Amino acid sequence: MTVTLPWQELPLNAFNEAQKAQCEAFYQILLAQNKTLNLTRITEPLEFLEKHLWDSLAGLWHLPPSLTIPPSARVIDIGTGGGFPGVPMAITYPDYGITLLDSTQKKVLFLQTVIEQLSLSSVEAIASRAEEMGQTPQHRETYDLAVVRAVSSPVTCLEYALPLVKIGGIALLYRGQWTEEEAAQLAQVAPQLGGQAIATIPYETPLTHSIRHSVYLQKTHPTPPQFPRRVGVPQQRPLSF
Ligand code: SAM
Repeated sequence: MTVTLPWQELPLNAFNEAQKAQCEAFYQILLAQNKTLNLTRITEPLEFLEKHLWDSLAGLWHLPPSLTIPPSARVIDIGTGGGFPGVPMAITYPDYGITLLDSTQKKVLFLQTVIEQLSLSSVEAIASRAEEMGQTPQHRETYDLAVVRAVSSPVTCLEYALPLVKIGGIALLYRGQWTEEEAAQLAQVAPQLGGQAIATIPYETPLTHSIRHSVYLQKTHPTPPQFPRRVGVPQQRPLSF
């Protein structure tokens, strides 16, 4: 049975009619594959609208005024899982060149189906680890924007993200709750990776009023060659000041 999305309950003006149809198609493929792939716990239509579509775009909507994303930005979504936030971004910003990165091959195969079925011509899905991508010349320091949602601790996510970002580019961490301690750790660690904390913007999701924080960092210097460290190390031994 086809389940349609209740757009009237959460109008998302970011999507035109054709893009809404792409979201519907994405949702159907996700529901069908979720049974075997365990891609997401968020499957109810309204929850999908709020916690996947709205939430994925909110980090771009809250961009601090001092930061800009070029119209044809190269974007990488690290640990994209079922395609969040990268696929909603790809639908809304078709001029972005988006790389969906995940270490789980079967999720990447699912994403390749999504890319094909939705005709997302400027999107690619790669099965690899962030630690390996960050040391690959073809990807290192080539992205205008790296986004990371629900992958690891803030410091670990930053070690995944900043090596991939070009100087002047942005690392955007999607967080739920946010503590003073996390903020202090991140601000202290960022310069070691060539970055600087710019702003943390708090907001709530529009229906369930869940707490969110978008954390923005800018790349100011080249990342030293030893970062990211080898696979597993950023998670096992997060950088400290
Ligand atoms: N970002 C998605 C979201 O918000 O719904 C998925 C989050 S899921 C909890 C975390 C994903 O990160 C998993 O699919 C996992 O395979 C991937 N992942 C974890 N560590 C990774 C790494 N070092 N490099 C690439 N992918 C990674």
